Parts: sequence; C-alpha cells; structure tokens
Amino acid sequence: MADTEKPSNFIRHIIAADLAADVYVTRHWSGKPGPAAQQKVGADGTAPRLDTAKIRTRFPPEPNGYLHFGHAKSICLNFGLALDYHGACHLRFDDTNPEKEEQEYVDSIIDAVHWLGFDWQGNQYFASDYFQWMYDFAEKLIEAGHAYVDSQSADEMRTSRGTLTEAGKNSPYRDRTPAENLALFRAMRAGEFADGTHILRAKVDMSSGNINLRDPAIYRIRHATHHATGDTWCIYPMYTYAHPIEDALENITHSICTLEFEDQRPFYDWLLARLAELDCVNTPLPQQIEFARLNLSYVVLSKRKLIQLVEEGHVDSWDDPRLPTLVGARRRGYTPEAFRRFNEMIGVTKSDSWIDISVLEECQREHLNQTTPRRIAVLDPVKLVIDNYPAGQEEECLAPNHPQKPEWGKRPVPFSRELWIEREDFMEAPTKGYFRLFPGNTVRLRYGFVVKCIGCDKDAAGAITAVHCEYMPDSKSGTPGSDNYKVKGNIHWVSAKHAYAAEVRLYDRLFAVEAPGEDGRDFIADLNPNSKRVITAQLESALQGAAAEDRFQFERHGYFVADRIESKSGAPVFNRTVTLRDSWAKGK
Ligand code: ATP
Ligand code: MG
Repeated sequence: MADTEKPSNFIRHIIAADLAADVYVTRHWSGKPGPAAQQKVGADGTAPRLDTAKIRTRFPPEPNGYLHFGHAKSICLNFGLALDYHGACHLRFDDTNPEKEEQEYVDSIIDAVHWLGFDWQGNQYFASDYFQWMYDFAEKLIEAGHAYVDSQSADEMRTSRGTLTEAGKNSPYRDRTPAENLALFRAMRAGEFADGTHILRAKVDMSSGNINLRDPAIYRIRHATHHATGDTWCIYPMYTYAHPIEDALENITHSICTLEFEDQRPFYDWLLARLAELDCVNTPLPQQIEFARLNLSYVVLSKRKLIQLVEEGHVDSWDDPRLPTLVGARRRGYTPEAFRRFNEMIGVTKSDSWIDISVLEECQREHLNQTTPRRIAVLDPVKLVIDNYPAGQEEECLAPNHPQKPEWGKRPVPFSRELWIEREDFMEAPTKGYFRLFPGNTVRLRYGFVVKCIGCDKDAAGAITAVHCEYMPDSKSGTPGSDNYKVKGNIHWVSAKHAYAAEVRLYDRLFAVEAPGEDGRDFIADLNPNSKRVITAQLESALQGAAAEDRFQFERHGYFVADRIESKSGAPVFNRTVTLRDSWAKGK
C-alpha cells in the first residue's frame, strides 16, 4: 500500500505494524463529543474523508510566525505519511496561547502548506475551538480526583518541584477534596482571581523520576483577550494538557513531534488514559512519536532569531529571498518539488544531526535543471563591436531551449553589430590557459558566429569601454561548414539593440559560517556581508515577457526567477535562486 519507492524509516515501520495489526480499524466516529465528528463536511464543502482514513496525522503550527525550512520537514513528513497510507493529515492551528496569534500568520501558513503541494481536505481546525471540551474534561478530572487547584506562589511551586536528582514535595493544597477543587476551579473560570494566584494541576506523582510527571500545571489564570474567543475565557489550558486533547478529539492516530517532547510523552499517555477511563475521548488513543528536528548549516531556524533578523533590518522582510522562511524560499525561486525531494533524502531519524545546506541547494539545482528553459543573460556587460558587420543589419540565430530536451525546441535570438558580453570574457593581456577573447584570439559567440578579437577601447582611467572584433560570415552555428572553425572559447552574448536591461538580485547565503552564533558569538556577527548584490544586467529580449515566478537557467550563471512581488508586466526583475555550481564547497 505504501509507496515502495520511498526509503523506509522508523515511523513508517510503526505505522505499517499498526495497520497490519488493525490497531486503528475499530476507530469509527462513535458519537463521543469531538469537533471532528461534528465537522464531517469541510469548510469548503468537501467531505474530509473522516470515515475512510486509515491513519490520521496533523501539522500543528502555532500561528505566531512564518513557517521555516524546519516546519517544511514536519509538513512533508505528516502530509506525506497521510498520502502514502491512505490517511488524512489535519492542519491545526495551535492557538491556545491568548497573546500571540495573528490572522496574518494563519493566512501565510495556509499558503505555505498549499505551496508545498499538500492539502488537508477540509480538515482545518483551531485548537481554541476546543476550549469548552478542555474545560469540561478538566472538571471531570477534578471530580475523579486526578486534578487539584494549587494556591502556592510560583516560587513555592518551583522549589517544591525538586530537581533531576531530588524528588519533589507535595503541595499543602494537594489533598483538597474534589468538591473544594471544583468550586475553586469554577471561581477561577468566573474571573474571581488575579493571574497567578491559583493554578490547576494534574495529580500524578511528585516523586516521579520524570519531572514532567510531578503534577504538571494544566490550566492557568490569564486575564487576556484571545484573538478568536475574545474575552470568553480568563483561564487557558497549558500546552501539555491541550495538545493531547486536540489530538484525541480529532482522532489522530500518530501524533508526530520533535525530540524535545520525548519527556512529555508519559504525561501525554497518562492524561489520555485518564480521559479514556472517564469516557471523554475515543479509543484507541493517539500515540506520540518523536523525531529529530531539522538542523541546517548556514541558516538559523528559530522563530526568535528570524524575528530579530527582520525587525533589526538585516533582511528586507519576512519573504526576503535570503531567509529560510517558506515565503522567502518561494520568492527566491526554490521549488516545492525540490523541497519534498530534499525531505525524502534526509529522511527521518531519532538522533539529532546537521544537514549541510548544500544538500538542499543541490536538490534545487537538480529539479531546476530538469524543468527550466535556458536563456541568455549578461550580468556584467561590456560592449563587443563587430567592425566588419554592417551597421543596421540584423539576423536571427537559433538557441536551444534545453540542451537535453530537443523537444523543447529552439528560439530565435537577434544578432547585430553591437553585442553585450561579460566583462570577464575579455582580457587584454591573457593569463595562461585563458581561451576567451584577447587580441588575436578567435572564439565562438555561442549559437552565432566565430569572431576574432582585434583590440579594445579604453577610457582615460584605462578601463575597457568596448572590445572590437571581426566575424567570419561563413561560421554561423548550424550552417554547413561552420564546424570547420576550431576554437577553444565559447562565450555568450546578447544583441545590444534588442537587449532588456533589468534589475537582477544576486542572492547568496545569508550567513558566512556553518553554525551562526556558535561558541557564544552573536549570530548577527556571522551574517554574510555579500548575501545580496543588486545589478543591472543585459538580458535576451524574450525575458522581458517573463511572468512573475517564471524560472530560467541563465546559461553559465545559474537559476533565476522573476520576482513574484516586484515584477511588473513587461518589466520583470530577477532573483538568483542558486548558482550552477556550489561555490562554497570545501577545498575550493
Ligand atoms: P521554533 O522552534 O522555530 O520556534 P516551533 O516549534 O515553536 O518553532 P511551531 O509552530 O510550534 O513552531 O511548530 C509547528 C510544528 O513544526 C511542530 O510540530 C514542530 O515540532 C515542527 N517543527 C518546528 N521546527 C522544526 C524543525 N527544525 N524540524 C522539524 N520540525 C520542526
Ligand atoms: Mg512550538
């Protein structure tokens, strides 16, 4: 059933075993209260296939920032598993925290997941929609003696929690009766107490070796307005309490998260087992599975650091093509296909490791090589004058759109007396092994004629202002006899009269070192000062018609995309996605 071409991993093994043992086959939407049961039809009118999904995963972002490359790993994993095993993956906004979330982030998360190529089939949820269930379940836990209201100060709670080597101490309030606790909890909910005066704790075990089981806090008083529920609530569930309930209410089967939640798994299991006993949630219960987060060299993947880069103006915006945000990647011209391929390649493991950014860049190159048409661009232009070509005359040369795909055809490129070539393709005094233009040397103008260099013009400061040459009329590429010319150099060009002069942004890695901020350095000090260079380039005229987000290979330079925000119709500007070769590779 699973796509056998994909490499297996420990999560796929778990799922395959669960499916083989029919662990989740008894899961039907059995009438227990739950948002999923109520939302059999998605917001867009499509049936979310709640009854047929064989497994159910979720991607649960907190809508308090833009998604980054680390989130892409989680998205590819969760949505990918759902696709491969005929399951469903929910998009759940984890908005239990009243202070931070914003609609702007919700919208950008929806866009980013769609852009990566995934769909939640109507299964879009907000954790804040479950506040009433969470509250009701808390009352049930209290009645059953599994939760109590603690009235110690924050300091007292901290001291009595103990340490890794020392057991915690029971709170003096731990033995309040269920009736007392219920009354206090209802008073908390009714707004009778100030923030921090009382807290609801699960009654587990203050002497547990796992600190997360020492009566963790599950509800706190917080007089704050929530973006979705307004002032309905002045108590809010803690993440460790809310998350397992969200999973259970949505009938998630495999709740996949990063390794730092491993120590929380015993509480996840404890809580859901109690709620199952109390008939609050469906069984079989979801299982939490942890994997190693993505760590990528040459970038930072922490929301806090990304915010700092934007707010302090080190980058232009959240979608700056240098940022490892998904909006940034999109503007840079990265493709979703290459992201998915990258995530397949790096796989999923249980141990932390670093992935070199060159692996992601190489995935982009591979995909762009297959999918982009070739175009000609001169990034650092100098004039080439063909002295023996009649002024006013022009003709067409034919350039292939893809060297390995003849079926993509050829396009005409205009040729005339004055061309733009790269400044580095001429040297007045050539160094050893230089085969391009220098006085007396012969090169081929790619897809055009063979020319012989006869000199150059210079300004008063000695800078070269034009290169002169003579062409061989019988050397035109593709015409009989053109092969008789044997030349070592082959350079690209665009006709000056026809060229489109465009803004091109040459992006490079945002940081100059592998591990920004390593060894206690301020990560800002590790920024690459050359991560963005804006130039005016001379492009072949066809590029003027490029639409936003059209991608190309500029021959000999790299892959470029028409900027999706700043391109205007008939006036696209281009961003460099990635160079043709890795200029950062060690030993170069
Ligand atoms: P950050 O660490 O950048 O603040 P976060 O974990 O707080 O991110 P959430 O919105 O809570 O951000 O994350 C949504 C999901 O993405 C979570 O399931 C989280 O585990 C996952 N995720 C976040 N960062 C990574 C990463 N580097 N690699 C893999 N998954 C990640
Ligand atoms: Mg988080």
